[in-house]
Amino acid sequence: MKFDPEIRYRCIQCGKSCQRDWNIWTEPSTASGALRTLQEEHLIEEDGRCRLARDAAGCAFLQDRLCSIHSQFGYASKPVQCQQYPILLTETADGLRVSASYTCSAVLQKSGLPLEDQREAVEDLLRRGATIKRLTSGSDWPDIQRFEARFEPAFVEWGWDSALRRAIRTMLAGRLAGVGGTPADWWDTHQGVRLGQDNSLGWVLGALLKPCLAQHQSQLWQAVDQALLESGPLELPEFGYRGSGQEILGWARTPLDDEADLERYRRSLWFRKQHLLCHSLFPGMLMLWTVGPLYRVLARWCGSHGALEKMELNLLGHSYVAQQIYPLICDYWISTYAYDGGGHK
Ligand code: SF4
Repeated sequence: MKFDPEIRYRCIQCGKSCQRDWNIWTEPSTASGALRTLQEEHLIEEDGRCRLARDAAGCAFLQDRLCSIHSQFGYASKPVQCQQYPILLTETADGLRVSASYTCSAVLQKSGLPLEDQREAVEDLLRRGATIKRLTSGSDWPDIQRFEARFEPAFVEWGWDSALRRAIRTMLAGRLAGVGGTPADWWDTHQGVRLGQDNSLGWVLGALLKPCLAQHQSQLWQAVDQALLESGPLELPEFGYRGSGQEILGWARTPLDDEADLERYRRSLWFRKQHLLCHSLFPGMLMLWTVGPLYRVLARWCGSHGALEKMELNLLGHSYVAQQIYPLICDYWISTYAYDGGGHK
């Protein structure tokens, strides 16, 4: 097991995660024991499984920001999904990576013990059937390691934004050239195509911003697209924002004075191999790069922790949206560049 050095965690009993609209599934053994004793009507049977009921305030078992199952029957009686939160586990060829979700208040505030000190609790979770993410990248592990051996010194020397732009440019050039090879070969041999001269940031940002909004309304989503693609006006009542797509794109391109939280989050994403959950390295690196512009916009509306929480909740840690969006963006990009004559757009 390897532990994410960025994470410290101890539950601060904020009750926030239990108020989310997540489906909590339980194991038949738990459902037939402690939960049924408490409130049978709070269990909903679906497809032979059991789900905990919830209302506008969150999980039906949450009382005064505390879990009534935990307080009456103990930690081990809660559904495994609840015991596992906020721990995120990723299986790789060189072992299990243990990290945690940035939707958790304690993780955001770095409150509690280093994750490494909680090895026994993680081992216990594994025995109870914790959920483990598995890599979807099409590359072989040795190819991935060869690429990472080139990329890691680059981001230390140039910073994330520059190193990621180089990775994306070389991968795009490699795919366009159709010469085969691996991302490490492309890094070594291709100069890369030019990026950023078209309106790609507008539509990429639009695709990522929309899932982060509280209201999923087609009219609002159209307004976001229109504003970002045509630099038009935009109103987002959720953030009390009244401005324009032009302003938002300007924010996305301009680093904030303090980006320590963003840096930390990118290191965690890299540690937990989030970029290898996007089907191939190219969309994975695009994902890591877009975290920057998206953060710079969201942080201006809802603060640094609010931005990380929204990205983690709606795109990266608890959603498959990112895994679907980034390959689509890459395919679209490749076809657009190829159509425009070999990438010299
Ligand atoms: S079962 Fe307990 S820990 Fe799980 S969501 Fe409900 S209140 Fe929270």
